[in-house]
Amino acid sequence: MSDDNLLEIKNLKKSFPVNGSSFSKDVGSVKAVNDVSLSIAKGKVLGLVGESGCGKSTLGRCILRLIEPDSGEVYYEGRNILGLTGKEMKGKRREMQIIFQDPYASLNPRMTVGDAIGEGLVVHKVAKRKEKREKILELLSMVGLRPDSIDKYPHEFSGGQRQRMGIARALALYPKFIVADEPVSALDVSIQAQIINLLERLKNELGLTYLFISHDLRIVEHLCDRVAVMYLGEIVEIADTSDIYSNPLHPYTRALLSAIPVADPESKRERVILTGDLPSPMYPPTGCPFHPRCMDAMDRCKTEAPTLREEGGRRVSCHLY
Ligand code: SF4
Repeated sequence: MSDDNLLEIKNLKKSFPVNGSSFSKDVGSVKAVNDVSLSIAKGKVLGLVGESGCGKSTLGRCILRLIEPDSGEVYYEGRNILGLTGKEMKGKRREMQIIFQDPYASLNPRMTVGDAIGEGLVVHKVAKRKEKREKILELLSMVGLRPDSIDKYPHEFSGGQRQRMGIARALALYPKFIVADEPVSALDVSIQAQIINLLERLKNELGLTYLFISHDLRIVEHLCDRVAVMYLGEIVEIADTSDIYSNPLHPYTRALLSAIPVADPESKRERVILTGDLPSPMYPPTGCPFHPRCMDAMDRCKTEAPTLREEGGRRVSCHLY
């Protein structure tokens, strides 16, 4: 593992059984994360993009062991955390946090903001009673909330303010790594920029490393240093953000990027229309999983699955390269 990497994932897999009905046995399984390998350098942001249902959130949760992967390795600061005991993992959890898409669902409506943010401080014995209140006030100020928010309840706040609470709660234990799972997609567009700017400022001030899961490619371009594109549980392309946006290689990446609205009416960007829906992960297509929707598909694509290969300092999984 390179010294520059905070996190390195190797061959991570996660399947879920599918039940036929409440009386029948499992009828199959869905490969939600299929042999994923990637790394994130310290202090950097890796964007993880793809359509809904492609396995992005499951991958984020497997990295944190909120869902146990079936196999693979997750190296955090050089140590495979999948081999840690529950007690050892508790120590690591302080450093590895998550910000959820829906801040309201992740906050207990019967807990005050102060109790919700301070919960982790008590569980992990980070602060004593007096220090706890001071620490919570510091966190509220860090995320731009007023000190009197501490004694209020989540329903008294707007969506953007609740996401600020979610961020404060994730920061309470001095994390180094944060999985931000669609943190702004439930918010109004006018509020999204504020939360993205907040995440960017906190990253720079606190030296944080993010896995930023999103389907909004404009936000990913603004915030992320590198981008991984996921399709049906697999990474199909991973590269520096500037390379992905100036010269996408994989046909799926090209299609995703071509759907971003362009302000310039003179722009010559070619629109690639993705036909059909994302296939069911329970019955993935043979060969290249993208072949039923790919405009560049060749005969071999129907039978032969491509692998993620190095191509000029980036990695892409496609027979065109
Ligand atoms: Fe398209 Fe073939 Fe490349 Fe798959 S391997 S993305 S079907 S060209």
